Amino acid sequence: MIIDGLGDLPHKLLNDLTPLEAAQTPNLDFLAARGVLGYMYPVKPGFIPESDEAIVSIFGNDLISSSRGQLEARGSDLKMTRGDLAFRVNFATINSLEQGNIIDRRAGRTLTTEEASILSKAINKIKLPCEFVFKPTIQHRAALVFRGGFSDDISGNDSTYNQGMNFPSDKVSKCKPLEDDENAQYTSNIVNEFLEKAYVILNNHPINIARVRRGLLPANFLLIRGAGIEPPKLKQYKKWISSNYMPLEIGFSNACGIKNYSFEYPELKGIDAYENLWKGLRKACKHAANIIKKNIKRAEYAYVHIKETDLPGHDNKPIEKKLMIEYIDITLIRYLRSIVPQNKINVVITADHSTPCKLKGHSADPVPVLFYNCGQVPSAKKFCEKECRKGELGRMDGNELFQKVGFVK
Ligand code: ZN
Ligand code: ZN
Repeated sequence: MIIDGLGDLPHKLLNDLTPLEAAQTPNLDFLAARGVLGYMYPVKPGFIPESDEAIVSIFGNDLISSSRGQLEARGSDLKMTRGDLAFRVNFATINSLEQGNIIDRRAGRTLTTEEASILSKAINKIKLPCEFVFKPTIQHRAALVFRGGFSDDISGNDSTYNQGMNFPSDKVSKCKPLEDDENAQYTSNIVNEFLEKAYVILNNHPINIARVRRGLLPANFLLIRGAGIEPPKLKQYKKWISSNYMPLEIGFSNACGIKNYSFEYPELKGIDAYENLWKGLRKACKHAANIIKKNIKRAEYAYVHIKETDLPGHDNKPIEKKLMIEYIDITLIRYLRSIVPQNKINVVITADHSTPCKLKGHSADPVPVLFYNCGQVPSAKKFCEKECRKGELGRMDGNELFQKVGFVK
């Protein structure tokens, strides 16, 4: 089980504890007491991972064997042929195209499913010298595919995610060719043309005019990243099933040959993103428990990814994060606790990266690892960053985890 962005740092709103330390987690602690703890650098020490880089690495692949855009597009049911250029997209807010200051990377997390769908219809009418598809997915997220023989040697337009940037800025940039190559230049030109046209449409769209009138941030810009043209080449896990419901993880499971079970994510209907997240989290925990129950005698391995816990990290909401951890503990983990001992099931619980609330973003800090392997003599342990640092499982990089816990030989 991967609990997204679980790792954290001490926070003053939690009396200098991390959300995981502050949370009451009797069921995680039950498993920890009968297992071993350790800590993991999801990719390698010093590296700040995005979710895709972390899971690709944990499942034993090189970072270059996939791209975010390809995984997101495939996880959004977009049909792809070789050479199609895919991106991950955020609806975002900027002050103006001329100045390009990013006000909010997620349009305040208040874009409803219906608004995203209407804006997307308008975007899909943009005239370009090539075909393209823009598809809204969950909340502020979308996938974008340009059809034809493009290059993926181009940067995104949010400098925070551009490689080699030591000082992430809050400015948008144009997409730039990363190679001195005609196709990369041509591709950047088309993508930049698209982004400018999209801004004009979005900024003047009645949906956004109405949002501004209501005091909400307009979703007037598209931030894109993770350019990819190659189908991901990932290690295959044919004996696995998964419970994944976000486009990236669905795309990842499919690319690994894992049989994924998804569910319809609740629509964001009002402006309260957290109400929507909680609905999603409740559904996700219930769904994962059901999938495990149904497949307990059929599948050998199950991969469960719980996504919601990453968001309060980005929003500096440590109490919300603690509450989410407690909720996962009394629902899904309690269920696991009730079935794993008699079924002799091993359980690994970890994170894809740390998202410390006070940093409002991912960090290079290692993540805690819990390995419940039945049959241990219980000893008092709390599953948290500090105890994991001292744990017997020790330290590892992401691509060593499966070996350490015996998932691969
Ligand atoms: Zn993540
Ligand atoms: Zn994140």
